[in-house]
Amino acid sequence: MDRKKEIPLSVPNLDPEIADNLRKCVESGWVSTGGPFIAEFERSVADYASVPDAVACQSGTAGLHTALRVLGVGPLDEVIVPTLTFIAAVNPVRYQFAEPVFMDCDGSFCLDPEKLELFCKQACVLEERGRRKVLVNKASGRRVAAVIVVHVFGNLADMERIMEIARRYHLCVLEDATEALGSFYASGRYKGRHAGTIGDMGVFSFNANKIITTGGGGMILAGGKNKKSLGRLEESRYLTTTARDDALRFVHGDAGYNYRMLNIQAAIGVSQIRQIEHFVAVKKRNYDAYAERLCALGVKGVRLLPFRPGTRCNHWFYPFEIDEAVFGRSRDDLMEALIQAGIQCRPVWRLCHLQKPYSKARRFHITKAPHFEKNILNLPCSTNLTIQEIDVICAEIRKQQVTI
Ligand SMILES: *Cc1c(COP(=O)(O)O)cnc(C)c1O
Repeated sequence: MDRKKEIPLSVPNLDPEIADNLRKCVESGWVSTGGPFIAEFERSVADYASVPDAVACQSGTAGLHTALRVLGVGPLDEVIVPTLTFIAAVNPVRYQFAEPVFMDCDGSFCLDPEKLELFCKQACVLEERGRRKVLVNKASGRRVAAVIVVHVFGNLADMERIMEIARRYHLCVLEDATEALGSFYASGRYKGRHAGTIGDMGVFSFNANKIITTGGGGMILAGGKNKKSLGRLEESRYLTTTARDDALRFVHGDAGYNYRMLNIQAAIGVSQIRQIEHFVAVKKRNYDAYAERLCALGVKGVRLLPFRPGTRCNHWFYPFEIDEAVFGRSRDDLMEALIQAGIQCRPVWRLCHLQKPYSKARRFHITKAPHFEKNILNLPCSTNLTIQEIDVICAEIRKQQVTI
């Protein structure tokens, strides 16, 4: 049988310059956690996100873990986390021997500020502990130390409301901006502020399926330009490099991690970050092309969901909502048919509060996320996806629609 070429969901777009950079690493011997590309990559990403500094690490997960520790989350604490996310946003809570409290999303897939506020107000109480106020979960008696906000698919969460609530209830805010490099507010209170630079700390990921890649890697950010933020970044840099006080004599001041980014990863990154605005433009062009073609073909019951108004989003992943009653087939049926036709696609993640390690964890009024888990389909969105391929995909979707 004549098997057509598969259209992948999300693959890297690597420039030939990368090979030259990697050759430089090999020829100079700088292949590990030292070398000139690391600092250059940190500077490029910090400049791009308009922040004074950033700390490169091994992965987004390592970055989130480090940030939680720097923010002081520890044993007996609770951390509010979304259930609709990749599980790596939640696992670092357990690495710190803290416990997650799962929260619902709103229509943007991101953490629902209304439920966040309701939880703080109804389920918790603000207590004076020494000179500090801490939020305590009435049911467990534990401190609720922080909230992790994920900018799902590159769509910015409602940071204006989330930050206001977090400040009022004395919660630290960690932004999981692993999917959102390139997304920023275009208006409002946070105009010009990039994903990952609004909360107390933030993290990008450069895994191979993200908008830019270093093979694997991450970047730790710390909100503002004040001394506290810069101190948090210094501490992150220290902890990710085994908390080394004296490199010659192997003197370490803390139980740190081997989380530092490699020079060979950064060598890929310095080339990739130069392309970010081009990648964002292609993602937007392809997103619009899907919407136009589905409309032109008269497809009903497949809706490409919008990104938040007032933001410039990176359109990293494209969420299609399948309305089974209108389309005539379920999301799973359509997914199977597309995979059969060589079109890679996937549902959203299994909700985290339903996953084995978290099946007994606390949760708060989760009603919206299950609808998205059931009905969302992600279609190919690589930056090397062509308009011709989008035509093929949309025609296949049209073919699958049941018309009465
Ligand atoms: C990719 C991703 C991560 C983890 O990043 P890695 O670099 O793969 O460790 C965490 N959270 C979310 C939401 C992600 O999409």
